[in-house]
Amino acid sequence: MAYIKVNNDKVTPDIAKQLIDLCPFNAFEYTDMYLSINASCKICKMCVKKGPSGVCELVETVRPCVDKALYKGIAVYVEQRNNIAHPVSWELIGKAKELAQKTKEPIFAIIIGSDVKHMVDEALSYGVDKVFAYQDETFKDFDVEVYSRVVEHFFKTYQNNVILFGSTPQGRSFAPRIAARLKTGLTADCTMLDIKPEGDLVQIRPAFGGNIMAKINTPNHRPQLATIRYKMFNLPEKETPHGTVSYESSVVIDKTKRTKLLQATDKPQVKDISEAEVIIACGRAFKKEKDLELIQPLVQKLNAEVACTRPLIENGWFDAKHQIGLSGRTVKPKLIINLGISGAVQYIEGMKEAELIISVNQDEHNKLFDISHYSIVGDIYEVLPELNKLIDQVWKVNP
Ligand SMILES: Cc1cc2nc3c(=O)[nH]c(=O)nc-3n(C[C@H](O)[C@H](O)[C@H](O)COP(=O)(O)OP(=O)(O)OC[C@H]3O[C@@H](n4cnc5c(N)ncnc54)[C@H](O)[C@@H]3O)c2cc1C
Repeated sequence: MAYIKVNNDKVTPDIAKQLIDLCPFNAFEYTDMYLSINASCKICKMCVKKGPSGVCELVETVRPCVDKALYKGIAVYVEQRNNIAHPVSWELIGKAKELAQKTKEPIFAIIIGSDVKHMVDEALSYGVDKVFAYQDETFKDFDVEVYSRVVEHFFKTYQNNVILFGSTPQGRSFAPRIAARLKTGLTADCTMLDIKPEGDLVQIRPAFGGNIMAKINTPNHRPQLATIRYKMFNLPEKETPHGTVSYESSVVIDKTKRTKLLQATDKPQVKDISEAEVIIACGRAFKKEKDLELIQPLVQKLNAEVACTRPLIENGWFDAKHQIGLSGRTVKPKLIINLGISGAVQYIEGMKEAELIISVNQDEHNKLFDISHYSIVGDIYEVLPELNKLIDQVWKVNP
């Protein structure tokens, strides 16, 4: 940590003006002959390097650091609803196995619920070294306060190095509370993870509107917490279980709830593009909403789901659930056909793991072509009818 200290004994009105003009973030305030720095300071050090000598100085503070050697193990929180695990948990176990090869740490699963046996077996079948199961009738439905106390108990008892959560609505409400309780950091919505041999987790996620991929560390605290989006990693292969199970006593855990669940009502099932095997994705090349009808023959023949880029949501042509990308859904279909999409990083981040990518664009330099398996340079209004004809021919031979 560092901050900029102003030596006010060297500040004259002239010097104050020079520094105010120099600072790109407008962080200086000069009142009653006193120069101070406000919260806009980004510690860019411009005032130290280019300002009058000795007026501003960088002060580095040493932060207390935990003894990292005491913390071992990569844990995955197995999210469940109605005692059915969310598949993101198994994807995270797969990633944890990959990371653990570098650090030689054990892999743990934490399962909280009222009937966890089948989830315990499933976690073991994915190669977890130890499952910590917290089973109690009061754990039946997710309650953020009670569940946070359980994870706090788990960490304080077993002192593990990393805990991974799915970046689901549950994980997003849950992980920040745990971070606050355990006084550690949290990186939300990671799209990649890596780990250094000594156990420092490298949490990678797009930042500044997707313009950079930030690598974030938690250098001084444990555990290292991250939430990761569904479908970012592959489901691991099942294997012959070798791990053990510990059914943890929950007697010491405070189970008081301040909210009372009166009733849980399932939302009507809608097809989620995250689960789709074939996707036709539409971009701003479509001039009118009516033109989207052109994709219908393809959609029907390929039994596809329709998705889109953000501008089409903003136009009101689609519900937000159809948006692919950083601020939309992550998809991993067997086939995606991109129609008139420019390939902004924010879009590509959400679909780059698709198995087969076909893109149509009139601009031969468009960025989606770089990651596409087949690129068609052309006008969607000409290419779509041709594609429809082609599919019709194939359909006649092989319906
Ligand atoms: C913080 C942030 C988050 C964002 N999140 C998302 C997100 O989750 N998802 C998302 O999609 N966007 C997101 N965006 C917006 C993103 O930056 C782009 O603006 C958006 O993806 C562009 O959509 P597009 O490709 O449909 O449109 P455009 O960029 O306008 O591209 C249209 C493409 O169509 C081609 N074209 C035009 N006419 C034809 C034609 N007749 N035939 C063939 N090709 C044609 C053009 O050559 C061009 O490549 C986000 C932006 C920010 C700042």
